[in-house]
Amino acid sequence: MDKISIIVPCYNEEQVLLLFYNETEKAVRDIENAECEFIFIDDGSRDHTPDILESLAYKDKRCKYLSFSRNFGKEAAMYAGLQHADGDYCVFMDADLQHPPALLKEMYRVLKNEGYDCCAGFREDREGEGKVRNFLSRSFYKVINKLCDLNMSDGAGDFRMMNRAMADSILEFKEYNRYMKGIFSFIGFDTKWIPFHNVERAAGDSKWNFKSLFRYALDGIFSFSTAPVTLAGTTGSILLGIAVLLGIGAAVRALLFGAPISGIMMIVLLILVLNGIQLLFLSVLGQYVSKDYMETKRRPLYIVKREEGFSKSHN
Ligand code: UDP
Ligand code: MG
Repeated sequence: MDKISIIVPCYNEEQVLLLFYNETEKAVRDIENAECEFIFIDDGSRDHTPDILESLAYKDKRCKYLSFSRNFGKEAAMYAGLQHADGDYCVFMDADLQHPPALLKEMYRVLKNEGYDCCAGFREDREGEGKVRNFLSRSFYKVINKLCDLNMSDGAGDFRMMNRAMADSILEFKEYNRYMKGIFSFIGFDTKWIPFHNVERAAGDSKWNFKSLFRYALDGIFSFSTAPVTLAGTTGSILLGIAVLLGIGAAVRALLFGAPISGIMMIVLLILVLNGIQLLFLSVLGQYVSKDYMETKRRPLYIVKREEGFSKSHN
């Protein structure tokens, strides 16, 4: 009998929690040959979420929960959930029923029978979400994929079921500024995508506001890319390039036509050259700092999917 751990981060979800539990519990009932456990992470909720979780844990032994001392964010909640899950398969789900529980059965079947390590839900549309947020999200994924050499798509969320090997390798990423979507893409493994329709959250409001989404976006960029440092270097080079062109132009005019180089021109050239050099060296410095930054994350150098024939573990 396999065990599936359903990991659910919850922040002020009193309005949907019971609904979520009932629907999901019903959906997992007809998965054959697997039992489930629910791992709820109360991310410092200020409403009755902890009380509801307590009564669920009392009523149903498959329900476990832990409460954070304050709001640490969804990323931290997902990590904590994964640490506490011991299932053969783990799946992340939002508490607001935007991730259809009916897909769990299919995800399990794909992992079990088709040899994939991960089966991820792919949101086909963004119905039920604001136009502005929609547009900003799309643009964000375009930028981050270019900058970070990752392949993340707008529709790919955190709704995914994975096997033990993949769950364990995610736990190896102990970095503080976490960005799960980047980590999913970074670690590899074979993923099958199955589409689902986006629906509005069952009740309550989105826990993200513009500020938290913006911070999340920056976390994504800065934890997987040092491109902003390179940007300083590029800007410096462009300034120097302009200075050279202007300088050559002025020199040619002075030599051929005897036109004097004006004081303004000298000042402009000086500013361009000095600032260009400064930016270039800033970026050199930045390269060292960013190497060190990546180093301090202590990310695994490689991730093993399967091994056979070794007598002892090499960790
Ligand atoms: N969440 C969390 N901590 C936070 C924000 C959100 O645990 O600081 C949880 C929330 O309870 C929900 C999931 O993350 O289960 C997704 O949040 P939400 O539905 O608000 O995000 P959206 O669907 O709008 O992207
Ligand atoms: Mg939601």
